[in-house]
Amino acid sequence: MFEYKAYFDDYLNSDVYKDRLRNTGYDDPDKVVSDRLDKLKNIEGLKSIDSRVAEALPEGNIEIGRRMYSDDSRHAVIPHEISHILNGGDNFIDQRSRMSDIERDMLMNLNRAMDYSHHHRDAGETKSDIDAFRYLI
Ligand SMILES: [Zn+2]
Repeated sequence: MFEYKAYFDDYLNSDVYKDRLRNTGYDDPDKVVSDRLDKLKNIEGLKSIDSRVAEALPEGNIEIGRRMYSDDSRHAVIPHEISHILNGGDNFIDQRSRMSDIERDMLMNLNRAMDYSHHHRDAGETKSDIDAFRYLI
């Protein structure tokens, strides 16, 4: 878990991150960064469960269903779930409501352009996917 948290800590503290917030319509990037760093500190650990889902729990744990996710795919799933914790609250609707208007519109346009059809294809899911891709590269 340490390597994931260290990555997000570096990323949230970077000038690039703050510029990105400013350029996507956040009025107070310093406050957003500080809120997200607090959430990052509270992430406790990872639990492997007998299920087919992966989920970020509000209290800071991440559960990963071993019936769906192999050890290899966890490298993408864990940063995706961390992103949900940093960017939102209990669910993806909550996460969407915390976005700037510009960011939400941009992500919804991306969803339409990519023709995502799953009913959970929300701006919050797309944002977490992007954060996971960023971690992987
Ligand atoms: Zn998700």
